Amino acid sequence: MDSNVHTPKPFPQPAAGYTQPFWRTELDDLDSHQSSADLPPETEILIIGGGYAGASAAYHLFNDAPQDKSLGVVLLEGRELCSGATGRNGGHLRPDLYAATKVYQERYGLEAAAEVVRYEISHMKQLEETVRNEGIDCDLTFTRSYDIFLDADHLAAAKAYYDSLVQYDLDFMSDVEYLTEKEAQTIAKVKNAKGGFSFSAGHLWPYKLVAGLIRIAVSRGLQLHTKTMVTGIGQTPSLEGFWPVTTSRGVIHARKIIFATNAYTSALAPEYSRAIVPCKGLCTQIQAAPGAPYEAIPETYVIRHGPGCFIYQISRKDGSIIVGGAEYTYRDSPAQWYSNSEDGSVIPNVETYFDGYMQRTFHGWEDSQATVKQKWTGVMGYSADSLPHIGAIPNKPGQFIAAGFNGHGMPVVFLGGKAVAEMAQKSISFSQTGLPRLFETTAERLTPIYDDTMGYP
Ligand SMILES: Cc1cc2nc3c(=O)[nH]c(=O)nc-3n(C[C@H](O)[C@H](O)[C@H](O)COP(=O)(O)OP(=O)(O)OC[C@H]3O[C@@H](n4cnc5c(N)ncnc54)[C@H](O)[C@@H]3O)c2cc1C
Repeated sequence: MDSNVHTPKPFPQPAAGYTQPFWRTELDDLDSHQSSADLPPETEILIIGGGYAGASAAYHLFNDAPQDKSLGVVLLEGRELCSGATGRNGGHLRPDLYAATKVYQERYGLEAAAEVVRYEISHMKQLEETVRNEGIDCDLTFTRSYDIFLDADHLAAAKAYYDSLVQYDLDFMSDVEYLTEKEAQTIAKVKNAKGGFSFSAGHLWPYKLVAGLIRIAVSRGLQLHTKTMVTGIGQTPSLEGFWPVTTSRGVIHARKIIFATNAYTSALAPEYSRAIVPCKGLCTQIQAAPGAPYEAIPETYVIRHGPGCFIYQISRKDGSIIVGGAEYTYRDSPAQWYSNSEDGSVIPNVETYFDGYMQRTFHGWEDSQATVKQKWTGVMGYSADSLPHIGAIPNKPGQFIAAGFNGHGMPVVFLGGKAVAEMAQKSISFSQTGLPRLFETTAERLTPIYDDTMGYP
């Protein structure tokens, strides 16, 4: 293993030229939009990043003030709209009910850990309401999620923790059902399964959600500038309180800045270089051959080969499967993925892993002739303590962050973007946002005492 691996450094901004995800096959009219030929010289609020976090912040900034063109909000995206992690993920909207909870409970206590779980679960209702009320067509679908274990010892440890949470009488545990070995093989249809759990989850077309939120914000006054890379931020604000921000299209001055830059944060805010590390992952779209037989599996999955070794998957209405993960196949080759913000190529160790995946994993898919139709990489912002960084950036008045969402942003980012928008717009404190206490970005968390980036504990 590379001995430099635990000394992350600041990274270049997202580079041009990248693998093409399935989600970017139907592009929105705003994909390369620039609201004006030149950037405005100044703005009240500047959002950097046009993924899920930036879109949520933009949407919520205008939520209370529809048509208020004087609000002065500019969003800068270095590449096209939603071309970072959000446009390249697995589309899995799956709260983590008991897996990460164990780690958080050991580190911070049960109450703080349970706050995170409830927050994640609340995303399903929040997104359902927003998507319905705003008429955003993003294939949002709710179903059950199977968490299937192939290793008996791993399952036994998970079951013991599940039993302890049930004994605590936590409200959300009533949604979790245990599956025996037989049920995991016949109902969940997973070969060699030793057992598992199921609970409520969802999936969606992430690009269409982001494009929908951005379209609403633009219609209410957001100035959107894609293909505009932020290259630097001045060290001090002007006397009037405006930060000078250098971009590939000139300088813009902003009173408030929201970093929605996820994996790429440390390029602009080097104090985050140990707290948020860019780490590459791979995702695929798999489809059975036309007319070939296969059994429908409308549920979503996480299939665990052992501690820290898992694959996630959703089924789309068109019959295709989006599958990714298998980090364990390349974890010991850090040059392929760790501290790596390049999504222009696949990860060699996992490149062919998903060939024949459905046939070898699921009962009923043996004759499906399923093949990988598309594969792509994306860059996640792995946080050292596995928690996102949300709130006011220490020692930089007027600067805020919502980043470090790991491979688990879909049930976390939407309300994080809302919270950071409220902090920037209404000058409320982190505790007033109602976010889980563990999410607050603090000076202490910038010199982390944990390092989960090389593999989740
Ligand atoms: C392969 C893969 C699979 C995943 N699967 C899932 C999943 O199934 N479920 C789940 O919950 N999560 C998943 N995730 C994680 C999830 O996608 C992220 O947590 C989430 O999308 C983060 O959103 P974001 O807006 O913070 O980041 P991003 O979507 O990466 O947005 C950040 C944006 O900022 C822009 N930017 C950065 N720096 C600059 C700059 N200097 N100037 C201008 N623009 C800049 C980038 O170009 C980018 O568009 C996956 C991630 C990957 C990569």
